[in-house]
Amino acid sequence: MKIISSPLELKNYLKNKNQTIGFVPTMGALHEGHISLIKKAKEQNALVVVSIFLNPTQFLKGEDLDKYPKKDEADKKICELSGVDVLFFPQVEDIYGVDEVSMLAPKVRGYVLEGASRPSHFNGVLTVVMKLLNIVNPTRAYLGKKDAQQLNLISLMVKQLFMDVEIVPVDTVREKDGLALSSRNIYLTPQEREEALKIPSSLRRATVMVTRGVLDSKEITSDMREILAPLEIFYVEILDREFNRLLDVEIGNTIILVEVKVGTTRLLDNIWL
Ligand code: AMP
Repeated sequence: MKIISSPLELKNYLKNKNQTIGFVPTMGALHEGHISLIKKAKEQNALVVVSIFLNPTQFLKGEDLDKYPKKDEADKKICELSGVDVLFFPQVEDIYGVDEVSMLAPKVRGYVLEGASRPSHFNGVLTVVMKLLNIVNPTRAYLGKKDAQQLNLISLMVKQLFMDVEIVPVDTVREKDGLALSSRNIYLTPQEREEALKIPSSLRRATVMVTRGVLDSKEITSDMREILAPLEIFYVEILDREFNRLLDVEIGNTIILVEVKVGTTRLLDNIWL
C-alpha cells in the first residue's frame, strides 16, 4: 500500500493509471462501516484510494474536533489488510491555505436536520469533498447511507456542478444489538451505550408499524419519540429520497431519520424503506 500526503504527488501518481478508481473518503478511526465501503470499492474498481483527513472546516466552534478519536497506526493497518492501494493521509496545511475559495451548501437542504443545529457544517463537508474528488478524480466514490443528508448533498453537488464521478451509497453496518457503527461511539459510557439502543429500537418500531400498514408520518414519529425519550432529540423526520417531507410513508421512496444526543454525544441513524 502506498501512503501519500501531498495532493500534487497523489494527482501525479494517479494521472496515467488508466484504471477505474474507487474512492473512500473518511475522517479516520476506521471501523467495520468504513471497511464495508472499502470492500465495495474493491469489488467495483481496479484501484482503491482511501483518504483519512480530519476536516476542520466541518466542525463548528465548540464541537469535538480536538477530541475526535485519532488512530493513525491502526487505521493504516486496517487499510493495508483491507487491500487499499493508496492511502491519502494529508495534513491540514496540505488541503487548506489562507483566503480560500469554498463551497456553499444549498440554502434549504443544507440547513435542515443536522444543518439546523450545525449551520455551516455542510459548507465544510462539501468544500473538502470537492477538493478530495478533484485530487483523486475517481470513477466512483463510496459514501455511507448512515450520513444520509451528507450523501444527499454530495450527490446534489456532483449533479448540479456536472462533476464526472458516480456516487455509490453503501448500507449502514451495525453492531449485533443494532447500534450503527460510528467513530463517535467510543465517547459513550457503558450506560450511555445502553441508552443509545433507543435509536435502533425507534427505527425498528417504525419498520414494524409500516409493515403493519401504518403509513401516517405523524403517528410513526410520535411512537418513535416515545421510545427515544428522555434523550434530547434533534429531529425525527420522515422524508422522501429527495429529502422532501412526507405526510405518509411511500414504500421504496422513504428515509426515516433520527438524531439525538446521548450524554454529550450526537448520534444519528436512519432507515431506508
Ligand atoms: P466518517 O469517517 O465518519 O466521516 O465516515 C466516512 C464514511 O463512512 C462516510 O461516507 C460515512 O457515511 C461512512 N460510514 C460511517 N459509519 C458507517 C456505518 N456504520 N456503516 C456504513 N458506512 C458508514
